[in-house]
Amino acid sequence: MSDQINELFDKDGNLIGALLTAEAWSSVRDQVMNALGVRETPTVEEKPEPLADWEMLTQYWDFPYPVDMDVACEHCGSKTENWSEDEPRLFRLSSANLAGLVAFKCMNCRAKVVKKHFKDEIVTECTPYLEEKITSKEGRY
Ligand SMILES: [Zn+2]
Repeated sequence: MSDQINELFDKDGNLIGALLTAEAWSSVRDQVMNALGVRETPTVEEKPEPLADWEMLTQYWDFPYPVDMDVACEHCGSKTENWSEDEPRLFRLSSANLAGLVAFKCMNCRAKVVKKHFKDEIVTECTPYLEEKITSKEGRY
């Protein structure tokens, strides 16, 4: 076997996998991915922002105040005057609907920020992000 590839065996001598050097892997990576039909997982595993829904909402905006673009996270204090102009986003739009419910994800602390547009006011709710996996991991250490 070449020093680029190390085949790995379990204690009974069964082949369980192969280890490639970084160099070897980078030269065959594309071919291996293609041969196995593996699709590149996007680095950001999030859905695209539903901007069409947001456009729809602004188009049919019937609240007695202008379209509001500011978002603030009560949890970590992150805020923006115009979420749609931040590049990269400080807050990602996660949903918007014609009823005036607009949800964002705080990219700093992952809290969910929901803006509820009512006839006379905008109510903002902030829900801190809870990851059970992380909490259970912390418990073990
Ligand atoms: Zn936050």
